[in-house]
Amino acid sequence: MASIFDSLHAVSAKRPRPDGKPVLSVRERFSALGNLPEFLKLVWQTSPSLTLANMVLRLLRAALPVAILYVGQLILDEVVTLSRLPAAERTLSPVLTLLALEFGLAILSDALGRGVALLDSLLGDLFANRSSIRLMEHAARLDLDQFEDSAFYDKLERARRQTLSRTVLMSQVLSQAQDFITMGFLAVGLAAFNPWLLLLLLVAVVPAFLGESHFNERSYSLVHGWTPERRELDYLRVTGASDETAKEVKIFGLAGFLTDRFRQLSDEFYEKNKNLVVRRAGWGTFFAAVGAAGYYAAYVYIITQAVRGAVSIGQLTFLAGSFARMRGLLEGILSRFSSVAEGALYLQDFFDFFHLQPRIVRDESRPVRPFPRPIRVGFEFENVGFKYRNAEKWALRNLSFTLHAGEKLALVGENGSGKTTLVKLLSRLYDPTEGRILLDGYDLREYDPQELRQEIGVIFQDFVRFQLSAGQNLAVGRIEEKENTARIQSAAAQSLADSVVKKLPQGYDQIIGRRFAGGVDLSGGEWQKIALGRAYMRDAQLLILDEPTAALDARAEYEVFQRFNELTQGKTAVLISHRFSTVRMADRILVIEQGKFIEIGSHQELLARGGRYAELFQLQAAGYR
Ligand code: ADP
Repeated sequence: MASIFDSLHAVSAKRPRPDGKPVLSVRERFSALGNLPEFLKLVWQTSPSLTLANMVLRLLRAALPVAILYVGQLILDEVVTLSRLPAAERTLSPVLTLLALEFGLAILSDALGRGVALLDSLLGDLFANRSSIRLMEHAARLDLDQFEDSAFYDKLERARRQTLSRTVLMSQVLSQAQDFITMGFLAVGLAAFNPWLLLLLLVAVVPAFLGESHFNERSYSLVHGWTPERRELDYLRVTGASDETAKEVKIFGLAGFLTDRFRQLSDEFYEKNKNLVVRRAGWGTFFAAVGAAGYYAAYVYIITQAVRGAVSIGQLTFLAGSFARMRGLLEGILSRFSSVAEGALYLQDFFDFFHLQPRIVRDESRPVRPFPRPIRVGFEFENVGFKYRNAEKWALRNLSFTLHAGEKLALVGENGSGKTTLVKLLSRLYDPTEGRILLDGYDLREYDPQELRQEIGVIFQDFVRFQLSAGQNLAVGRIEEKENTARIQSAAAQSLADSVVKKLPQGYDQIIGRRFAGGVDLSGGEWQKIALGRAYMRDAQLLILDEPTAALDARAEYEVFQRFNELTQGKTAVLISHRFSTVRMADRILVIEQGKFIEIGSHQELLARGGRYAELFQLQAAGYR
């Protein structure tokens, strides 16, 4: 069983997960706070005006609690004074004026609070949208092999998951600043009366804070260390219940297998987490009691002073109110501090992701070589070797041959022999590990990768079935032309996709794929005709078809390649197919086996040579006799 789990895991993680779960030191937590300035800069860039308005409102609001408490003190003292006067001299008007003032402040405080909440939510939404866009843009710049690295993938996942909590973090940081200012105002009043009260306040609140932050750290470590498992959980959940897998899950009766694994993993996580939250609740109660003791000690002290006549009744309420308020604020600040620190730790993942740089980029240090139009010589492989990241085995080794300009080259070899890898090297999805590929005599790396990809059209065997309209699915071949209906229709006609589109209720506007309501799914062969249409949309100098015809019947494939021959008149093309009826149409055929060059030549030449190609050809021909 273990090996099946392992292979299942390998599918989801693409690579065994890294050992050793991170444990965070207090220093790391504090250093994570260093991410906040960069974060605030991003918030500011999202919308300077909203951020500024937010800060102004918060500043005003920060001053209100002390003002309200102070007016309260004045009211009480006024009432006490009045009550001592002879009845005839008592007049309510000064008290009423003060009351009106306090009422006004209360209304203002509420209005400012709502204003702040509104600005927070608007700014938060904008910020979340912007960072999702930045995330997508950056991911698009990265290299394919970075996506195949599971550590990278975990990073991306964490950066992506945190979109919502980043907006929470933003309002927390702003609230933190606001509460600090409020505390400052209140502290002035309290310290003027007796500075020791401030110390008492710290004693009451700090232990709770330390406890909180300890548990936060634990919880982050737990969540962080579990990223690979959570990715597996997601994978299991999706695999257990998705349209793409339902067929095989049913046929092979995999539901139990998948749910067992899910249950095992999720129970394990639940137990670990339960342990933590229970301990956290226990300690939390204890520290709350310490806090309450501090508050009542201060209260007793203030009341004693009032009884002795050292402070007025009004001052008594002001001080008790200030103390209670400050305790609440301090608790808030400290507990928010842990979640801010935690948020800042997650920010680390976010920034780490943005600091990842693609390696397959234009070399800025030298002038970029203009892409040849047309290609004159072709692509020359010089002793090319390639090894996938983390793979033991070379996918390709010691490969030397030339793909001449205007030539149609077929690649032949068993599954896993490196045909797709060769195509990926040609289109610079990867760079060779050894040797080099020359285009018209210069290293492929000297050209701008963007421009290179513009000039190459590849249809992979595992082409993407975009859940878009049929027209858009064709247009992805050259997305700038998505409005060019004539071009899309002609591409469809050439790839035989027009017969597929004709059958769709809404023609080119029909959403295909089942993910969205109203979508119509296509058969494998129909999808392939659509995907092939992309090659015709592309109109590139080098066209590559990597077995995108496997699901077509022999006649359709023959027809497709006949047309492909016409399309690629005078152009360079590479095609991968297992059907010799197709392969023999190529000018030359390159045979590779386990990443190694075997032979190259035209169909006739290779047959005459009587080597591997001839053997394979006879084998397939025998199947038809
Ligand atoms: P073909 O297209 O001829 O079927 P590929 O080029 O896809 O072969 O694969 C060549 C070899 O490289 C195989 O051994 C395959 O397992 C390995 N391989 C392919 N893709 C990856 C990858 N992303 N990571 C690691 N190994 C890979």
